[in-house]
Amino acid sequence: MITRPKGTYDIYGEDAKYYNYINNVFTTISELYNYNYVRTPIFEESNLFHRSVGETSDIVTKETYDFKDRGDRDLTLRPEGTAGVVRAYIENKMYGDVNQPIKLYYSGTMYRYERPQAGRYRELSQFGVEVLGSDDAMQDAEVISLAYRAMEEMGIEDITVKINSLGDKETRDRYRDALKDYLEPHIDTLCEDCQKRFKTNPLRILDCKVDKDNEVLKNAPKIKDYYNLESKERFAKVLEYLGYLDIDYELDDNLVRGLDYYNHTVFEFVSNMEELGNANTLGAGGRYNSLVEQLDGPSTPCVGFACGIDRLILILKELNKDKTIENNLDVYITAVNEEEKLKAITLAQDIRLSEIKCEIDTLNRSLKAQFKQADRLNARLLILLNSEDLQRGIITVKDNLTHEETKVDENEILDYIISNV
Ligand code: ATP
Ligand code: MG
Repeated sequence: MITRPKGTYDIYGEDAKYYNYINNVFTTISELYNYNYVRTPIFEESNLFHRSVGETSDIVTKETYDFKDRGDRDLTLRPEGTAGVVRAYIENKMYGDVNQPIKLYYSGTMYRYERPQAGRYRELSQFGVEVLGSDDAMQDAEVISLAYRAMEEMGIEDITVKINSLGDKETRDRYRDALKDYLEPHIDTLCEDCQKRFKTNPLRILDCKVDKDNEVLKNAPKIKDYYNLESKERFAKVLEYLGYLDIDYELDDNLVRGLDYYNHTVFEFVSNMEELGNANTLGAGGRYNSLVEQLDGPSTPCVGFACGIDRLILILKELNKDKTIENNLDVYITAVNEEEKLKAITLAQDIRLSEIKCEIDTLNRSLKAQFKQADRLNARLLILLNSEDLQRGIITVKDNLTHEETKVDENEILDYIISNV
């Protein structure tokens, strides 16, 4: 038997219902916030990720799926969504559109070679938004509030927005030097990965999952002491807007994010649910004002987030574990002989086109077995087709709650169903 590749899973049954539900909530809310859908390829030129996510990031050094196609091109399965959206923005010259800023949302699968565990897969799904072309702190607040409100709409209340500012490049450079000076004498106490990060990406040491309880990191210099005035004022403004929007946030000095392209605002949505272990970050994002330029586009300030749909499925399943998912079939049509089947399939079409959920039997079950199936599906109304009735232009409808049967004129059946489901 052929099995699925390690780290992947099949989304079906209850998971599939939650998957669609989560996407629907995010999509509806994004549309309300006036974002437009964008779809970019699942594979891109490998260079795109090296130049955006960063040569020294965990994702690029350890997690990408790289391959050569039959034309000897170096390609990579996308590990995240932002790089592709920014590439599309530049390549399609969206910066020239009259409508600015460009506000986009996407949903799709990403690929990371990680050690699989609860809430951590090699094929994962993300929903995200990117706003390209606005530098205003209000835009940061809008992006955060969109994600927050969507998750709230899903019934997840236990979310903390952890937030920090990395300041501008000047701030980051000064801070990086100070952090290195501080860490140098303590380097032996850090994990192996952090010893490498010390040379390549020292800020990343701050959000290392292995070293997170190390006293050395707790006492490290804080980036907030290195902000210049502009960075400080901008961060204060973002927090002020979040306050007005009633969003609970927690300042987190050690939040730096694993990707290289962030500056100024960075944030994460964290769940306090135990089951998720160290996979309890539901989403994350931030401002990336130099990425478009870094990828050869015109200088464009941007901000966005991405949420992990797989982790949201786990959370929603846990939150709703005592509730059974109601099957909400409206109408089940029983039919046994050919004349009844012909009526069943045409009537089902009319009912479905009236936006009423309807099921017919395609297994040639006995009438008794069809009744049982209707009960299993929790059908509200049963349409009991039989040849004798049909010859008299009549259809029998049974209310599956009261068990009451009604004879309805064939010409009025659709109206009857519409007013009784
Ligand atoms: P983590 O710190 O948990 O590894 P990350 O910083 O790598 O997360 P991002 O790149 O910010 O994650 O991705 C945004 C969201 O995508 C995460 O908050 C998480 O919900 C989800 N996500 C990331 N990696 C995985 C994965 N391997 N499996 C499932 N979901 C994931
Ligand atoms: Mg990760």
